[in-house]
Amino acid sequence: SAKKAGRGQYRFFDQSLNVTDAEAFHLEQAFPEALAKRQFVLHFQPQVCLETMRLSGFESLVRWQHPEFGLLYPDRFIDMAETTGLVIPMGLEVLRLTCEHLLLWRDEGLEVETVAVNVSPVQLTQPDFGATVLELLKSYGLQPRDLELEITETAVLDARAAEQIHILKNAGIVVSLDDFGTGYSGFAHLESVPVDKLKIDRSLIARISNSHDDSPIVSSTIILAKRMNLKVVAEGVETREQLVHLKVAGCDFAQGYHISRPIPADQVAGFIGKAVEALEEPV
Ligand code: C2E
Ligand code: MG
Ligand code: MG
Ligand code: MG
Repeated sequence: SAKKAGRGQYRFFDQSLNVTDAEAFHLEQAFPEALAKRQFVLHFQPQVCLETMRLSGFESLVRWQHPEFGLLYPDRFIDMAETTGLVIPMGLEVLRLTCEHLLLWRDEGLEVETVAVNVSPVQLTQPDFGATVLELLKSYGLQPRDLELEITETAVLDARAAEQIHILKNAGIVVSLDDFGTGYSGFAHLESVPVDKLKIDRSLIARISNSHDDSPIVSSTIILAKRMNLKVVAEGVETREQLVHLKVAGCDFAQGYHISRPIPADQVAGFIGKAVEALEEPV
């Protein structure tokens, strides 16, 4: 870092370069080697089915085990990876790691139905993305139903991405629209790019509070989604009240700190063992 190099080194940085830019620059330089050395790791956040209160799957979330800076979360490097295109090889590594973990859990006899993987719009605009994902699954002996892909609104609005989404959906991969309710499109665009699931953004879920336990926006979103034959996932569920409200409102799945934080792969077996008791309590 600049500090380690000595006080004099600071003058080499342009004044307009803030700490974040300097960090992003450093991380960009280190990224290819990090990929080669397999420094990217996944954490897995459980998702539960609200009807049965059983585990329905996990979402994989990337972290960078940086040798100097420790465990870095995606807010530190995803934007840079998208701008530089490095998100393409990183995304492939995330898919590989997800498949490897899924196979290991199943070898241990753990029932993990699906793992959802976040996909950047930059990946989706690659004309071979769909084919690459399908080949990868095949090479691991996995089925399209083993994987879910989480896309964003930006991808829904891009014609090249829409083409890849069609390929993946037609092959039987479940596609979810992430962070729903934060952008501009709302429901109108969903008619042109059919997805299977909506993930209601945690900023909307946060409106469900103790004192104000009915959020008309969330309830209406669930009703509209149902009318469009979409499954609904609530993200960022942090309280029992939110969970109860969502269940009553007809939401299908929930994910959030109230259920579990994202956990490292080696804690997944322990979570599944515990989850059966803890989650089956009637809400
Ligand atoms: P996301 O896909 O919407 O993932 C949910 C984020 O919310 C995760 O942050 C998760 O740890 C956090 N979260 C989950 N439950 C709660 C809760 O109850 N309360 C609060 N406050 N937060 C909660 P994380 O892991 O830092 O990831 C941030 C974003 O980075 C993700 O948002 C996703 O857009 C992106 N990302 C993560 N992994 C990947 C990846 O492999 N590829 C790509 N392209 N993007 C990724
Ligand atoms: Mg996601
Ligand atoms: Mg989200
Ligand atoms: Mg997000």
